Amino acid sequence: MVTTVMWFRRDLRLGDNPALLEAAAAGRVVGLFVLDPLLWERSGDPRREHLAASLRSLSASMGGRLVVRRGDPATVVPAVADEVGASSVQISADYGPYGQQRDEEVEASLNCPLLRTGSPYAVAPGRVLNQQGRSYQVFTPYFKAWLAHGWRQPVEPPSNVEWVKAASEELPDRAQGAGAGAGEQAVLTHWHEYLDGVTEYDDQRDRPDLDSTSRMSIPLKWGEIHPRTMLADLARKRSDGAKAYARELAWREFCADLLARNPHAAWKPLRPEFERMQYDEPDELFDAWCAGRTGFPFVDAGMRQLAETGFMHNRVRMVVASFLVKDLHVHWKYGARWFMRSLYDGDLASNSLNWQWVAGCGADAAPYFRIFNPVGQGLKFDPDGTYVRRWVPELRHLDGQAAHEPWRHGGAGGYPEQVVDHGEARREALRRYAAIRS
Ligand code: FAD
Repeated sequence: MVTTVMWFRRDLRLGDNPALLEAAAAGRVVGLFVLDPLLWERSGDPRREHLAASLRSLSASMGGRLVVRRGDPATVVPAVADEVGASSVQISADYGPYGQQRDEEVEASLNCPLLRTGSPYAVAPGRVLNQQGRSYQVFTPYFKAWLAHGWRQPVEPPSNVEWVKAASEELPDRAQGAGAGAGEQAVLTHWHEYLDGVTEYDDQRDRPDLDSTSRMSIPLKWGEIHPRTMLADLARKRSDGAKAYARELAWREFCADLLARNPHAAWKPLRPEFERMQYDEPDELFDAWCAGRTGFPFVDAGMRQLAETGFMHNRVRMVVASFLVKDLHVHWKYGARWFMRSLYDGDLASNSLNWQWVAGCGADAAPYFRIFNPVGQGLKFDPDGTYVRRWVPELRHLDGQAAHEPWRHGGAGGYPEQVVDHGEARREALRRYAAIRS
């Protein structure tokens, strides 16, 4: 009887998992997860918690037969494959810079083939090409081509996998609670409930006060659901809200596509002239940003939401990122690193490419001179000040929009003064931008 190792990585689910389907069709399956110290150390507590909870759930759905080993995958995966006499190792392909290199190293050390089936994307990076056979730099044409390319229908979970148990270490033990809602079944339940209201998505998605977005970035990060499953459900809805939601999933795929083609974009600007941009070293202003004590209520609300919950609404992510780069003049990589440590959904491609977009140095970046006004953005997208009052207790006594401008309403005890003058900071950002263009 043939034995295959199914090496789970960012596909912690049994349903719509073509690699698992292949493994199960070949014979007996050893389900393996390798706790790679390099990735574990780099992750912040939120990602570790969610991973731990998700692995527990995955193992439970396999009758407790998930094999967990710690160590360098280049050593661990071949050792497990030899131990169980595997004829192949199945994976879904990874397109991140570290993942690709790791998989090549594992492949070189294995005594059996490493088979790549599927990926964490509806359309794998590198597939969407223009008429000249090149990849896209700009989102809108990418999106059109992505839609035209299309994707396969979801596949059913294998009906009767013959899981084989091998020696396993303990599952990582992390605090319970914050990771609640992890695991394939919990995620599917959440997704189906969310789908009922997706019609409103296009009208409400920019409003952090309504807290109406799906939070599916977290399960997507770990592959507790495949985007293809979500796209198939959305297609049945046919509403503008469902279409708007599918477009956001395409942003996720565009980021992955860009990073796969430009691995340096993880921490370096895509537009080379930005290598010459003058930035300030992170100092106490950076600390104030991290702590949500800049004196700009909308920025502080976002940074405190992040610190307290490991999540931040997309609109607020854009505003706090712009504030760090264009008001405090700190390099985006410091903000991106802080986000990766703090977010439950921290994902290298989505994080770095969105930071580059806001910082003006990405492929399809916002024009540099369009600098967000941190107060104006709050007034527009949190029109009653509800979001600010939720996260900044010092401002709770201020009604309505007054929470966005405490200095115009007698101030607020304990709430900090603005750490910069936005007008001056904006002029300085534009001066620095002019310098790299001359
Ligand atoms: P919804 O509005 O419900 O969107 C549905 C899904 O579409 C999301 O789950 C996500 O998978 C995808 N999506 C939506 N917007 C984007 C986008 N701009 N780029 C890529 N995919 C998107 N997303 C991450 O998953 N991980 C990150 O580390 C990350 N870092 C970011 C950093 C900055 C500076 C910015 C501006 C955005 C970042 N994003 C990141 C994108 C976006 O903010 C989150 O995906 C979104 O807020 C997650 O919440 P949600 O699932 O409720 O979103």
